[in-house]
Amino acid sequence: MKGNVHSIESMGTVDGPGIRTVIFLQGCPLRCKYCHNPDTQEFGEGKPTEATELVEKIRRFIPYHKASGGGVTFSGGEPLAQPEFLTECLKLCKEAGIHTCIDTSGAGNGNYDELLRYTDLALCDIKEITEDAFGKLCGGSLARTEAFIRACEKHGVPLWIRHVVVPGLTDGREHLLGLKEYISKLRGVLRVELLPYHTLGAHKYAAMGRKYALEGVPPMDAELCGKLQKEIFDGE
Ligand code: SF4
Repeated sequence: MKGNVHSIESMGTVDGPGIRTVIFLQGCPLRCKYCHNPDTQEFGEGKPTEATELVEKIRRFIPYHKASGGGVTFSGGEPLAQPEFLTECLKLCKEAGIHTCIDTSGAGNGNYDELLRYTDLALCDIKEITEDAFGKLCGGSLARTEAFIRACEKHGVPLWIRHVVVPGLTDGREHLLGLKEYISKLRGVLRVELLPYHTLGAHKYAAMGRKYALEGVPPMDAELCGKLQKEIFDGE
C-alpha cells in the first residue's frame, strides 16, 4: 500500500522518547495560524511510498532506537489523515519490534480501533480547549481531537499532551490553568509539554505566495515557557 510522505528525519530527539526516526506524512485538514510546516498541508503532494519500503528504511535505525529507548514517530501534516497507510506502517513496525508513536492533532476520521492496536504512544496536540477558540486558531474542530483522545483512553494508549504557547494568544496564566484543568480529566496522560511558538517557518509562506497569519507576533520566550511549564504543569 502506498502513502504520501513529505520527508524523513532519521534521528530526531524531540518527538517522543529516545532517538526516533520521524516520518512526516503529507496532508493536513487543519490550517493552524502558527503552522511552521505549511508545505506539509496540501493533500496529493509528497512522495508516493510503499509502506514496506518505508519500514525497510526505518529498520536501518533500529540499533539507535534500541540503544536510546527510541523508535519511530509518524508525524505530519496529520498522520491520521492517511489512516490505512498509517495502520499498515505501524503494523509492520510493530512486527519488526520497533516502538511506535504518532504525533497528531487528532484530526482523523474517528475510526482508530485498528490503528491504535499497533500504537505504543500518542503525542497529541491540544491546540485550544473550546470549540470557538479552536476554530479560530486552526480552522477545525476540537471534537475530533477529543474523539481521538477517547479512543486512546479506550485502548489504553498512553498520551503525551502538547500545547503551543503563542504570545498574546495562548500564553495567559488563566488560559494555561484552564488547560491544566482540562487535561486533569483525561486518562493515561504521562506528560504535558508546552512548546514555545517560533517563527522559523514564517518565510515558507512568502515562498508559497501565502500570507502568514501571525505576522508581527514575536517568538515565545523559551525561558518563560519553561517557567510556566514548571509552575503550572510540573508542580515545581
Ligand atoms: S495540525 Fe500541524 S501540520 Fe496541520 S496545520 Fe496545524 S500545525 Fe500545521
